Amino acid sequence: MKTIYDEQNIFAKILRGELSCKKIYEDDKVLAFEDIAPQAPIHILIIPKNKYISFEEFVSEADNNEITHFFKIIAKIANDNNLENGYRLITNKGYNGGQIVPHFHVHLLGGKKLSL
Ligand code: AMP
Repeated sequence: MKTIYDEQNIFAKILRGELSCKKIYEDDKVLAFEDIAPQAPIHILIIPKNKYISFEEFVSEADNNEITHFFKIIAKIANDNNLENGYRLITNKGYNGGQIVPHFHVHLLGGKKLSL
């Protein structure tokens, strides 16, 4: 059974402008903003504006143009934030994956040598 998207999740509120964020990038399909509790000197969250709960839903429901655009924007943001020494991308999926906010997002972490 398909899980229903929670319109009250924090990122839905950010997308509707009900909560503020420190915006890094925005276009008609993608929003990126600083994580409120950064785990590294640079910790940016990148989200599609369309409603996908998780990575799995994103890759199965979004069209190829949207998926390609999303990941190219992540690369652009990394490039624009001086992460030439490397960075880490994480997406948590579901309870065991530690996903707290049920709107698909990718964490971009960098700015130091990250531990494993
Ligand atoms: P996840 O565990 O993958 O669902 O991660 C959710 C992330 O959202 C965490 O790293 C939180 O610190 C971050 N977060 C929660 N609320 C906000 C907010 N209002 N603005 C920015 N980041 C947030």
